[in-house]
Amino acid sequence: MVSGKDAGVASTTPVAADAERLRITEIFHSIQGEADAIGWRTVFVRLTGCPLRCVWCDTEYSFYGGNWHAIDDILAEVASHGARHVCVTGGEPLAQKRCLILLRKLCDAGYEVSLETSGALDVSAVDPRVRKVMDLKAPDSGESRRNLWSNLDHLLPHDQVKIVIASRADYEWARAMLAEHALAARCMVLFSPVHGAVEPRELAEWIIADKLDVRFQMQLHKLLWNDAAGH
Ligand code: SF4
Repeated sequence: MVSGKDAGVASTTPVAADAERLRITEIFHSIQGEADAIGWRTVFVRLTGCPLRCVWCDTEYSFYGGNWHAIDDILAEVASHGARHVCVTGGEPLAQKRCLILLRKLCDAGYEVSLETSGALDVSAVDPRVRKVMDLKAPDSGESRRNLWSNLDHLLPHDQVKIVIASRADYEWARAMLAEHALAARCMVLFSPVHGAVEPRELAEWIIADKLDVRFQMQLHKLLWNDAAGH
């Protein structure tokens, strides 16, 4: 998931007045660095908390802390940036049930909305207007037992499955899942190398050699800003 360490917005709604609140690590305005909305100016809403602990996680700062914000305040902060694309990310955003309300309200407001989710939590209630970018966790993540395979039945053609690959063994697992679950027939499938673990060129050459129907991707924001704060 995308990195950045901006402090985000301050809530202005009294606690008792609005039960529709979410714990937020940051809200920031940047360029989408991955998936099919890559390159678009995007507002990122990063929710706090994740029940997983992927070995290569690059957003551990979102596990704890954060601040409570009324969903309407979040919408106002998003609107202030004047972007058409909004990405709800984490952590694992679906770990907070009210994330579903935020997603629906963002869609109602006319944004192009994407959701970055681990694949470990049920996605069936996500608004169908949202483009889900759903991970399948490969073995080297340390969390592949958490994959909720029933989620595959809730993917729509505009969604994406992302597999982050840290080794040749991960690649072979991903290739096997691609075939076993006919992933490419469901939606776009993204293979992404773990920064510093697999040479991007090596992964690209494996995909070419095996003629896989997947989309290779590197994280644009890492190339542009090397994971600097607020991006
Ligand atoms: S699911 Fe995402 S946020 Fe959670 S530990 Fe894995 S990479 Fe990090």
